[in-house]
Amino acid sequence: MVIIMRAGASAQEIGAVVKQIEQIGMRAHLSQGEERTIIGMVGNDRPVDRSVFELMSGVDRVVPILRPYKLASRDFKKDDTVIQISTGNGHAVKVGGQQNGLAMMAGPCAVETREQIMESARLVKAAGANILRGGAFKPRTSPYSFQGHGEEALKWLAEARQETGLAVVTEVMAPEQVPLVSAYADILQVGARNMQNYPLLNAVGLSTRPVLLKRGMMSTMEELLMAAEYILSNGNYNVMLCERGIRTFETYTRNTLDINAVPVLKSLSHLPVIVDPSHATGRWEYVTAAARAAIAAGADGLIVEVHPHPAEALSDGAQSLTPENYTRLVNQVRRVAEAVDRTV
Ligand code: PEP
Ligand code: MN
Repeated sequence: MVIIMRAGASAQEIGAVVKQIEQIGMRAHLSQGEERTIIGMVGNDRPVDRSVFELMSGVDRVVPILRPYKLASRDFKKDDTVIQISTGNGHAVKVGGQQNGLAMMAGPCAVETREQIMESARLVKAAGANILRGGAFKPRTSPYSFQGHGEEALKWLAEARQETGLAVVTEVMAPEQVPLVSAYADILQVGARNMQNYPLLNAVGLSTRPVLLKRGMMSTMEELLMAAEYILSNGNYNVMLCERGIRTFETYTRNTLDINAVPVLKSLSHLPVIVDPSHATGRWEYVTAAARAAIAAGADGLIVEVHPHPAEALSDGAQSLTPENYTRLVNQVRRVAEAVDRTV
């Protein structure tokens, strides 16, 4: 249920409602709208006597949220969530909200060497990216494939952040890695394979870092939103949803980009939606077309794999763009963004 307070309800009236929610064993989450406060009531699924709240001072009305995800839903928060990402030069990138520019995340699949990540950072920045990606801990299908350089890679990412001013997004694979990765990264990435790793979702939910939550390769949008709900219900409201392609019967591409997910997620939820055209297609030749489509469909940003020398990449070389091709992508996306009243 959500309790919609009257415009101008006092802090005391809001406090009394929160106390009443806690008294019946539920938890209150506040959403401060333009003119009113909305209080989301979450907890167990027991029926709640609405009239108790309807009669309280300052309450306008009480409405049930019919969807299984509550805090992620547009019913709880009408306005788009805007996430402030701190960058290496003390500025902030704002992700989400029609009025803000697009989040342009780019970089190699994996951090391979100090030189490779420094060079990648300089090149993607020059092309127009504002957030650097690069995996330090890699979830690989084979235990014999390169698993990432771990903390050493996190240090190189931090150095690249320091030099270029780009914010850093990198994957965290286990709950116990959250403090370490948070010490270096600006955004914690939860990978597709971990979308339903509930201990990890709870751990990033308790962190103060924004989270990029990737859709599982066989997950429905509702399952993605329920995974986001785990993070939000732990108090971390800064979640970005990422469509990265789902597994279908098609074999000419690595996955199938579910372009529908962009408008559907944006209508069901207030959270920003990011698209990963690299993992969605698996082939660099198709990445730019998929990126243009994502922005035309209303995505709030892109996460794209770019490698200074794709042929030498230790992972995902076939889907990595050269810096020249990434520059072309940004220039084209800039023009598509203009058509949908967004900027790069
Ligand atoms: C990645 O971003 O390199 C990655 C492993 O992505 P996903 O979790 O979407 O497969
Ligand atoms: Mn990859």
